[in-house]
Amino acid sequence: MRILLAEDDEIIADALIRALKRGGFAVDHVPTGSEADAALASQSYDLVVLDLGLPKLPGIEVLKRLRARKSTTPVLILTAQDAIEERVRGLDAGADDYMTKPFALPELEARARALTRRGTGQGRCITLGLLSYDQADRVVMVSGQVVELSAREIGVLETLLLRAGRLVSKEQLVDHLCGWGEEVSHNAIEVYVHRLRKKLEPSGLKIATVRGLGYCLEKPDAAT
Ligand code: CA
Repeated sequence: MRILLAEDDEIIADALIRALKRGGFAVDHVPTGSEADAALASQSYDLVVLDLGLPKLPGIEVLKRLRARKSTTPVLILTAQDAIEERVRGLDAGADDYMTKPFALPELEARARALTRRGTGQGRCITLGLLSYDQADRVVMVSGQVVELSAREIGVLETLLLRAGRLVSKEQLVDHLCGWGEEVSHNAIEVYVHRLRKKLEPSGLKIATVRGLGYCLEKPDAAT
């Protein structure tokens, strides 16, 4: 799940980035409205967290342009506490939800999860053999037992599950895990896969290494 965060206040942005990453999202951050507009015109996101008071191009204008392009990407707007009119205009322009500053970070995480779930038409649960994965709550279970995984391990597993039986390159895994300017090395990916193999052992699922190319989560009928 990839989020575009448009927020010019550095302190707020840093806190939001940390909270969203903790929630397992990859975050791209832009500090101006014009950069937000450019990013949204060229890439697709699962959610936009949009401050309305942005330099260069007001947040409301970014939102209007996004909707004018017929994008249905969910948008959560951030507004000042007493700016009721601003909020109404935002919702009228096609925002899906709003939060007023200051807000509690766990609430933002919860709303981001709810909006991305709505956006993808999910509370989707993926089942493969003995393993089940709830995409909305990001919970992995094997034979009904919760498996403790880090946010990054879940990110890797999610990518492999969505392409089960097919090759997933290390680049695809890196893309899925990272926002701009973040680096996850191929070595780190190898470590996540190594840990996943161990933790998922009871499921009987195998993550095959395709040398030089990437990984493939084998479907149970193919794994012997
Ligand atoms: Ca602002």
